[in-house]
Amino acid sequence: MPKTLIEPFRIKSVEPIRMTTRGEREQLLEEARLNVFKLHAADVLIDWLTDSGTGAMSSRQWGAIMEGDESYAGARSFYRLERVIREITGMSHFIPTHQGRAAEKVLFTAVCKKGDLVPNNSHFDTTRANLEYLGVEAVDLVIPEGLQPALVHPFKGNIDLARVEHLLQTQGDRIPFGMITVTNNTGGGQPVSMANMRAYAALLKKYGKPLIMDVCRFSENAMFIKMREAGYESASIKSIVQEMFALADGCTMSAKKDGMVNIGGFIVLRSDEWMDAVRNMLILTEGFPTYGGLAGRDLEALAVGLEEGMDEDYLRYRLRTAEYLGERLEQAGVGFVRPTGGHAVYIDAKTVLPQMPVAHYPAWALCNALYLQGGVRGVEIGSVMFGRRLDDGTETYHSMELVRLAFPRRMYTQSHFDYAAEVIAEVKQMAAGIRGVRITKQPRVLRHFTCECAWV
Ligand SMILES: *Cc1c(COP(=O)(O)O)cnc(C)c1O
Repeated sequence: MPKTLIEPFRIKSVEPIRMTTRGEREQLLEEARLNVFKLHAADVLIDWLTDSGTGAMSSRQWGAIMEGDESYAGARSFYRLERVIREITGMSHFIPTHQGRAAEKVLFTAVCKKGDLVPNNSHFDTTRANLEYLGVEAVDLVIPEGLQPALVHPFKGNIDLARVEHLLQTQGDRIPFGMITVTNNTGGGQPVSMANMRAYAALLKKYGKPLIMDVCRFSENAMFIKMREAGYESASIKSIVQEMFALADGCTMSAKKDGMVNIGGFIVLRSDEWMDAVRNMLILTEGFPTYGGLAGRDLEALAVGLEEGMDEDYLRYRLRTAEYLGERLEQAGVGFVRPTGGHAVYIDAKTVLPQMPVAHYPAWALCNALYLQGGVRGVEIGSVMFGRRLDDGTETYHSMELVRLAFPRRMYTQSHFDYAAEVIAEVKQMAAGIRGVRITKQPRVLRHFTCECAWV
């Protein structure tokens, strides 16, 4: 058998990407106030800002688009998608939403109240924001290994069961349900083992609490289980996925991830108990329950995409891609969060710019350097994103300075990855000449999206 793992698809429709010169990029970045969020996407060569809704749909999905039934109520496309989702999840209630955070908002508003507390391995930022907006405390309880970037562990997304049990014993009356995020996005796209999910579900059950899963990357998680967890070596992805869903009482999903579509999300629930409240909230904010903020064609594309996302050849190629970039970084002496996750690689900027003070935002500086050197766009996960300027003008900083490179699905080929690896290695070589930044204008919250910077 040849050892080369290939992209398990061929290309039917192409979208040109534009080469720019270093001089042009310098000017474009200046105009963007040294903030890559403000660049026009057309000026980016390799866009690894996010894997959310940015992937390529298949010819089967584009074919399904034409079959979309745009009826307001009871569309055929809804029932088709419902069949697919029931088969995968085994849950009786399926409610489409326009994306993941809408699923969170609808569910949480219907079943949480002020003063509640929700445990999770790590809440994704929209999940945390939706809970906190309702006055609910969002508690992250990932295992300690999950917080050490250089430490290799097969399931760094696992939840710390002892700390969950302690919470259930001491604050049980505040907990409406437990959550778990697969894969753990905030922690680097790290997987959760089946054993951990099973034990967590049993623990919650002992205390009479439902388990809600945030399943944005359930297929990638299942592939990690197949590759790393004893007893699953020869299981099919679908059977692993079904075994996982059987542990849950309900789920929220952003279909922009493993749903392989550009927009969409959903809620599934096992019992009738919360359905009336959820349905009423949905009608208020998303739309009638058989379309939930989506067009019929979106539902069709998702019905196909969910199946394609579980294809083993695709998943093997997907996870291998991140691993491959990790190997190239290792050769270049660039540090990153280990092991590589499912959808992204997180560069440890302090290994590239060890001399740069954190006050000059090394991860932000590295992000800018990657764009200037080769037109590659990543996202800073460091002190611009998580630090804060206090009223007295002093700053708080984040413990890590990371640059996330997140990979759209089925979009970039191996040569794109080789090119990006070369760009990163070149930046590492010229690290001494990379300039840090200061923030000249910033909003009070979520400053990374809109802040303006200048070179120090
Ligand atoms: C993307 C994401 C969400 C939110 O979904 P959107 O479609 O972006 O609203 C929630 N949880 C996780 C883990 C995610 O990755």
